[in-house]
Amino acid sequence: MNGYLALRKIIDTIFDIFTLSPKEAREKYFLFPNFAEHISKLFHEERLIDIPERLEIQAEIVKKYNPPARPALDPYVSMQIGVFNKNFSDWEIGHFLNYPDCCIKSFTEEIRYGIDEKHFKEMENFDKIILITAGFIPHSLFCKKAFQNSLICILEEKEIPKIKKLEIELFNSLPHFHSEYKYHYYEIISNKILGSSYKELIK
Ligand SMILES: [Zn+2]
Repeated sequence: MNGYLALRKIIDTIFDIFTLSPKEAREKYFLFPNFAEHISKLFHEERLIDIPERLEIQAEIVKKYNPPARPALDPYVSMQIGVFNKNFSDWEIGHFLNYPDCCIKSFTEEIRYGIDEKHFKEMENFDKIILITAGFIPHSLFCKKAFQNSLICILEEKEIPKIKKLEIELFNSLPHFHSEYKYHYYEIISNKILGSSYKELIK
């Protein structure tokens, strides 16, 4: 799977939920029943009117750049559908976002709410650049399933400008005000640029 297809999968899930009644959504998406039901309800109450267009715009931009890992779902969409509100379990949201079980488990049980010391330790003898979907905290930077789901990739140095351009185009085309999710990818981490943040890189 590449970054575009991984994002498309989530977008298609949302569009599919829009066609279902809350009860149907609950049954079909049994790995995140409460969340699917909630999205369906919001849609049928016409509280997600601006969401389809934003999703199509994001899909179109990401398809054009074809990044090796998927960007975070548009933060405005995530806010509107309730990804960030605490009514749903980390497991439901994690399954919706196609996060592997091993990573959801470490996120919730070890309370790893960011890229932490343990991750940096894994990078000690690793001289490459790693790109991670923003919002996703892997149980390990080398989690096989996370690589398979295009949530992490090893980034070639020559691909950095492409990712920067993608960030900028998403930011300009889909303005939003979620300050913590200004970027769609996590910091690029490597031994070389450890400590310098993606925010600095993108300047
Ligand atoms: Zn994992």
